Amino acid sequence: MRWIDTHCHLYAGEFDGDREAMVQRAVDAGITKLMLPNIDMDSIDGMWNLANTFPQHCKPMMGLHPCSVKADFQPILDKMKSEFSLRKYIGVGETGVDLYWDTTFKAQQIDAFEQQIDWAKEFNLPVIIHSRESQDLTIEIITKKQDGSLKGIFHCFGGTEDQVRQISELGFKVGIGGVVTFKNGGLAEILPLIPLNMIVLETDSPYLAPVPFRGKRNEPCYLITIANKVAEVLGISLEELSRVTSENAEAVYGKKD
Ligand SMILES: [Zn+2]
Ligand SMILES: [Zn+2]
Repeated sequence: MRWIDTHCHLYAGEFDGDREAMVQRAVDAGITKLMLPNIDMDSIDGMWNLANTFPQHCKPMMGLHPCSVKADFQPILDKMKSEFSLRKYIGVGETGVDLYWDTTFKAQQIDAFEQQIDWAKEFNLPVIIHSRESQDLTIEIITKKQDGSLKGIFHCFGGTEDQVRQISELGFKVGIGGVVTFKNGGLAEILPLIPLNMIVLETDSPYLAPVPFRGKRNEPCYLITIANKVAEVLGISLEELSRVTSENAEAVYGKKD
């Protein structure tokens, strides 16, 4: 069986002690593709170090995380946009709106999100959306921008049945991660209502480790723990989940290399 971790921050400092061994553990466990969303200017070098060390497995994206959007975001976005003509990126992100930690720069977050959606259109790439406390707002923005050409993932999905329906109509996927294993997380109840062709798996490493690792450092090989729970809740075999989620991820990111 092969698996794709559609969202992991493997350049994070949490992995400084064992980064290459951690990637190797994931590859040995069958997680052959590790999609790396960017955070800010400081994460780019580490992301490329990984992509150059594991070119078959680690695939970089480019974007500015909503929690990193401050008053001075425009020159940063301009620099990031120029990256697309310099190196190969498989997606735009992660971008979106986060109103959980801080709403000071809400207007700037929305502006930066809309610009990054336009990159996705211009470069014909998927957009990877972070929508903490902003599910309706981000769906509204994508609905406004969707002209049939946009595709992407609402990562770390934790919404309602109605939002699943809206995201489905937009032609987007939802990223399911460790939260599905949390007691009282609510996600395991929503999961059976999500069409199978919308589901992709993610760890969001080093964050949101699944039970029984909850609260500890997350890493991509725990994707199998997440997959076991998802397969159990959906009542399908691991083999089928592996096949369908890999196809779904490839429908977003492309099949090549
Ligand atoms: Zn996120
Ligand atoms: Zn993330």
